[in-house]
Amino acid sequence: MLLREQNIDQLKNETFDVAIIGGGINGAVAAAALSAKGVKVALIDKGDFAGFTSSNSSNLAWGGIKYLESHEYLLVNKLCKSRNLLMQSYPSTVKEIRFLTCIQKGFRFPPFFVYLGTIIYWLFGRLYTKRPDYLTPKKITSIEPVINTSNAKGGFEYSDAYLFDNDARFVFNFIRSSLDNGCIAANYVSSQAADYVGDHWTIAAQDEITGETFPIQAKVLINAAGPFVDKYNETTEQSTEHHHVFSKGVHLIVDQISANKKVLAFFASDGRLFFIIPMGCKTCIGTTDTQVESPLSEVTDEDRDFILDNVNQLLNLPKPLTRADIISERCGVRPLAIEGGNGGTADWVKLSRKHAIDINKKQKYISIFGGKLTDCINVGNEVSEIVEAFNIKLKEPDITWYGEPTNGIKEQFLAEARAINLDAMTWENSAEPLSERFWRRYGANAIELVAKIKHDKNQAELLIEYAEYTRCEIEYAAKHEMITKLEDFLRRRSKISLVVRQDDLLNATGLKETCKILFGSEAEEKMQEYVDSVSF
Ligand SMILES: Cc1cc2nc3c(=O)[nH]c(=O)nc-3n(C[C@H](O)[C@H](O)[C@H](O)COP(=O)(O)OP(=O)(O)OC[C@H]3O[C@@H](n4cnc5c(N)ncnc54)[C@H](O)[C@@H]3O)c2cc1C
Repeated sequence: MLLREQNIDQLKNETFDVAIIGGGINGAVAAAALSAKGVKVALIDKGDFAGFTSSNSSNLAWGGIKYLESHEYLLVNKLCKSRNLLMQSYPSTVKEIRFLTCIQKGFRFPPFFVYLGTIIYWLFGRLYTKRPDYLTPKKITSIEPVINTSNAKGGFEYSDAYLFDNDARFVFNFIRSSLDNGCIAANYVSSQAADYVGDHWTIAAQDEITGETFPIQAKVLINAAGPFVDKYNETTEQSTEHHHVFSKGVHLIVDQISANKKVLAFFASDGRLFFIIPMGCKTCIGTTDTQVESPLSEVTDEDRDFILDNVNQLLNLPKPLTRADIISERCGVRPLAIEGGNGGTADWVKLSRKHAIDINKKQKYISIFGGKLTDCINVGNEVSEIVEAFNIKLKEPDITWYGEPTNGIKEQFLAEARAINLDAMTWENSAEPLSERFWRRYGANAIELVAKIKHDKNQAELLIEYAEYTRCEIEYAAKHEMITKLEDFLRRRSKISLVVRQDDLLNATGLKETCKILFGSEAEEKMQEYVDSVSF
């Protein structure tokens, strides 16, 4: 039986300590922390894991330098600490990157003043990263000729961190570690309602693939529905101190603008920070920041033009970027936590990006508002403390539930990789050796992949043209990564559909074979479902 079907069976038949609604970063870390600590956890998501906000971020783990301007020093201090902990815990995934920032003439602060801000930021970051450097326009040009310095007053470089693969893969790895620790999780299972009767919750769940409805029983209910937290709380009749307001953010992915592995940072025409971020062999540009009423958002021509106009103005490109250069788009709403009732009356500019956790102790109900990928370890820790305070026993309260496997396991993996000369099998255009990629994506489970290749060299064959995925990884994904739709694999377990043009991808040799491995007899149907979802 497939992993998802097996898990849905268990969701129907077992009683859980904790049920989590939502498999974005907040739900995923809650599940990872609790299951590692010995709590019996269920997690459902109405779409794919990380299928909503958590696959549409800027992929940065950052201390929030921009909040220095609004004097939110405590927040910056906390986020810098969280960023450092992520870099320390996930060295192959959360990597330091330089932000090359160019300040235009007439900007609200002179460049040297902003540079002093980066020194303060570096100090908040406990000197964990490389120190900032001040740059003249001439120096900026020598480092990065693509930047248009004709109107530049000066600039600087400072460090923050980014997610090397992407946000969705980062989130999925928390889901994977939860599953390894006994959490029963299923994607494409929604909950429309839940009732607290006696001393436990009965959650009305629906399998979004078959339409079947069934109850899930749990002592504690965690609402980690991201932008839908308020909506779900209405159905469960919770009144909370916090609510959400939404800010839409769009990113566009285009061919690589610069081979320099730096984020190019500017202040866009609306005065907000604007980034040009390396994404493998492509470049991701953004973002916008528009207040919207609904969590359901889409990219408009106005968003596209805002981003393209800014890029064309700030860079010296051989020819201006147009809408035809867009390979793919990312769009999401930031769920911003506000205290009190109506989000529409909030002071938009002053809204910070802190998370807030509201608790209904009597009904053992938790709502997670706002937050950032960067702060995810704190969310996992805080949720665990709350659940323990609800008298749910944590069998392993002090276990470290996050981070890459130990050096011993890494050494074992590297030794086995060397023994079969794994890196010599790396695809010639690959950005990195196979051993690095395997370790980052699969951690200790990478040992299983090496064993497969040792047994059969064809397992290292690159299966999809343009995409860095070997046959054994796709077989592994089919078994362990709960790929229910082709899009789950192409957009979230990997970033193939973000970096490969749709036509190239649909015509790529190997895509049909990939579908067969992932879906067996349903391969054609799943392929058609994907084609229908991307063609309009
Ligand atoms: C444009 C943009 C840029 C950003 N950049 C960064 C950045 O660089 N760094 C950073 O740290 N943060 C960044 N963020 C913030 C970060 O991405 C979000 O705060 C975070 O992803 C929110 O995670 P979440 O788990 O709360 O929500 P989500 O990821 O939206 O997860 C909620 C999940 O709940 C599910 N769900 C909802 N209702 C139900 C239901 N009834 N039943 C079952 N499932 C349900 C949804 O399907 C969804 O998958 C950015 C956000 C945006 C939009």
